[in-house]
Amino acid sequence: MGDSKTEIKFSQLFINGSFVDSLSGNTFETLDPRTGEVIALVAEGGKEDIDLAVKAAREAFDHGKWPRMPGSERGKILMKFASLIEEHADEIAAIDTLDAGKLFYFGKFAQIPAIAGNVRYYAGAADKIHGETLKMSREFQAYTLKEPIGVVGAIIPWNFPSMMFSIKVSPALAVGCTVIVKPAEQSPLSALYYAHLAKLAGIPDGVLNVVPGFGPTAGAALASHMDVDKVTFTGSTEVGRKIMEASAKSNLKSITLELGGKSPVIIFDDADLDMAVELARLAIFFNKGEVCIAGSRVLVQEGIYDEFIKKCIEKSKEWKVGDPFDPTVNQGPQIDKTQYEKVLSYIELGKSEGAKLVSGGKACGDKGYYIEPTIFTDVKDDMRIAQEEIFGPVMSVMKFKTIDEAIERGNCSIYGLGAGVITKNIDTVNQMSRSLRVGVVWVNCYFAFDPDLPFGGYKMSGFGKDQGMDSIEGFVKKKTVATPLYNSPWL
Ligand code: NAD
Repeated sequence: MGDSKTEIKFSQLFINGSFVDSLSGNTFETLDPRTGEVIALVAEGGKEDIDLAVKAAREAFDHGKWPRMPGSERGKILMKFASLIEEHADEIAAIDTLDAGKLFYFGKFAQIPAIAGNVRYYAGAADKIHGETLKMSREFQAYTLKEPIGVVGAIIPWNFPSMMFSIKVSPALAVGCTVIVKPAEQSPLSALYYAHLAKLAGIPDGVLNVVPGFGPTAGAALASHMDVDKVTFTGSTEVGRKIMEASAKSNLKSITLELGGKSPVIIFDDADLDMAVELARLAIFFNKGEVCIAGSRVLVQEGIYDEFIKKCIEKSKEWKVGDPFDPTVNQGPQIDKTQYEKVLSYIELGKSEGAKLVSGGKACGDKGYYIEPTIFTDVKDDMRIAQEEIFGPVMSVMKFKTIDEAIERGNCSIYGLGAGVITKNIDTVNQMSRSLRVGVVWVNCYFAFDPDLPFGGYKMSGFGKDQGMDSIEGFVKKKTVATPLYNSPWL
């Protein structure tokens, strides 16, 4: 039974099918953000551990059965993996709550089942990955093969430890790649638990490896490794740049980058006001604002601006902050002290830039890293709180007059991850959806995710897609085979 007393069973590196200490013997503390206390000492992977994990993954790819078995067989094993995840939803949810301050009940009943669904989606895709037959102008035939790209390094952030693990690992495994996961140092525990379940499901040794450790050591070693064929990364734009540099300076490995965001929620005068308030609140306060695609800029048309702010303040007072194991709580603690201090410093910055603090704005609770849901109004586009990713429960509200202004200001960001559009007017919907330079537009909804929906950014939010069949394309290489064609009745 998962609860705040859940025992941490796995804290070593998982390499070549076994849990092992790091070669250096070093460990690091992972902390409970509710209290700042140590949950577990985790083996700290370094360059030499990454070397071992890559060697195991290389061997499993070059000579092992995983890439060579029929896709339907891999699919069967991944289906079993999905069922095991579902069976252990409550323990995994408890681990992510302890390690990352995530809401336990949301994890147990929504997030972890969704992750099992994600694994199943790719399990079902494993035997549907095929190339094309091509016509050539001469008496030749040609076809394309889609082959697994090889050894994959997955470097993931702390805000959704389980979801990030599953959206990177599931498609890579489905196509026949082998994988080394480097979870974030703030939240390494659930990835190790998934490694244990993967072994139980029958995923062969060396196919999936998990090496916790720090970014500049373990992460950098993976990103620059000559025997890694692909790095799929989710994290900050700043580190994404380093991943790209590491690829350029090593073996030009293929990369996918899912990076930061400053996504707008754009609310028009004709919107259902209660729905708009509900969506705006969810878009920024869900998961304590630690969401790449948080709706951190709220643009409201002038006709409903005052009423929107009044209702939004009322609603934010009803948003309960507290222990994420409590089923009545909406928002748990920020991931760690660094992030907590960063968010509080942005709140101070907002005040000093001249934005009007109308709700929240303070830390709360007598221990841990809790912050009140915070609302600034009268925010200007050029303020840093409107441009930089705060990654906390801080809403910046701005007023606009016309649709052209909404487009211009919605796009006024170096990022282009997502946007929300709230209106009843279909013409507005169409114009906005096509004018916003972002990877996903949610119309009269927010955070509508599904394994089948490709997800990924424009501009400095990165490139490549997670989720959907598009993600599969990131883990295959297309090979063209051409051969002369003799005595065929058809060309
Ligand atoms: P981060 O970039 O600091 O770290 C992400 C991962 O990269 C961690 O595992 C870290 O150890 C590793 N890392 C750090 N330095 C490295 C280096 N030099 N070489 C290789 N690896 C290195 O990001 P974070 O603070 O963990 O997560 C928050 C960021 O992630 C935010 O910017 C957020 O927007 C972004 N994010 C994006 C998406 C998306 O899908 N676009 C989803 C979630 C989070």
